[in-house]
Amino acid sequence: MTPMSLHTSAVERLCLRNIPLSSFSTYSIGGAANYVALPETADDLAALYQDCKKQGLPWYTFGMGSNILFPDQPDPDMVFVSLKRFTELKTKGDKWFVSAGTPMSLLSLMGLSGGTDLLDFTFLLPGCLGAGIYMNAKYNHRQICDIIDTVYYIDLSSRAMSVQSIPSAECDFAYKQSIFQHHPWIIVGADLNIPVHSEEQIQYVSNLAPAWKERGNHPSSLPQFFSFFLGEVHALAGKGIPTPESMLDIIKYRTGKRHFDYPSCGSVFKNNYNYGVATGSLVDQLNLKGTEHGGAIISPHHGNMILNQNQAKASDIVYLMEVITEAIHRKFGFVPEPEIVLV
Ligand SMILES: Cc1cc2nc3c(=O)[nH]c(=O)nc-3n(C[C@H](O)[C@H](O)[C@H](O)COP(=O)(O)OP(=O)(O)OC[C@H]3O[C@@H](n4cnc5c(N)ncnc54)[C@H](O)[C@@H]3O)c2cc1C
Repeated sequence: MTPMSLHTSAVERLCLRNIPLSSFSTYSIGGAANYVALPETADDLAALYQDCKKQGLPWYTFGMGSNILFPDQPDPDMVFVSLKRFTELKTKGDKWFVSAGTPMSLLSLMGLSGGTDLLDFTFLLPGCLGAGIYMNAKYNHRQICDIIDTVYYIDLSSRAMSVQSIPSAECDFAYKQSIFQHHPWIIVGADLNIPVHSEEQIQYVSNLAPAWKERGNHPSSLPQFFSFFLGEVHALAGKGIPTPESMLDIIKYRTGKRHFDYPSCGSVFKNNYNYGVATGSLVDQLNLKGTEHGGAIISPHHGNMILNQNQAKASDIVYLMEVITEAIHRKFGFVPEPEIVLV
């Protein structure tokens, strides 16, 4: 413990004050928060929660903010805990340990440098690993749970708030589901079931987190996220590691759907697999693409995305979500379940 931490509370030490949440959300939406904490280790994270408990301050933990809608007027007492500086990739025996704030897309570069295609699906998938595990993020048929061996978490209901572990097989992973949605558990990292490949890979991967923090870590800007990862695959291609077809397809798909052109949180609703038609197609059938409200618009390119096209408020996004919900309920007889989290 440093002399400073003896005298300063964790909230005081780790929080920035009066910070617009819009800069922590890929939606670029959210009013000014009194407290925004940026812990970089599990110890700091646990100390922060303990201090919040002691001071009676509520908290909200998040990663890149690519699946949440912050309020226009945040609760003045709320401590918003961003994990985006809690970024670490390291070897643990013959496996990789990755911390919760590490962008999932960095894993695709780890895979590329280690000669495996098992991590390709994380390429250009916005968000951090902690939330990826929490939401069981997916692309096509590949899900985050496919690459997880053990998850480490802090149980917020425990007094000690020490780090616990749970094997992937016990995490109740299913479509966009995990056990972490049903317990007050904050993920701090995970061992991947991806073997370490070579000394060259270790060297390359050890530079990824610092490079991301330095160059790519503008709070939650989708264009900067895209250009950072595109730059990295080009750099690898320059070193003789060509970009595989699967990653080129992802670039084509995501740029074709204009994923990085406007602030958004990706798909707003989950697909209803019982109904059997993707939500985006239902919105298309209802001719709702292009519907605008305030500064928000239902994407003309993807019916399940609502974009912030011109300084939209959270209330504009919520309004369009209600338009879609009512229309789907009336025409198709079910209420679509939101995928994004309304804070
Ligand atoms: C353009 C675009 C395209 C997208 N495409 C896809 C896609 O193809 N597939 C897909 O699955 N998703 C997609 N998403 C959504 C998003 O990428 C994922 O949901 C991602 O997992 C969110 O990560 P995040 O760090 O931004 O989470 P946040 O938005 O910061 O948080 C999401 C939720 O996770 C919780 N959480 C965050 N960290 C932790 C933690 N450490 N422990 C416990 N709970 C935590 C938060 O409290 C919140 O409830 C897309 C988003 C965008 C903007």
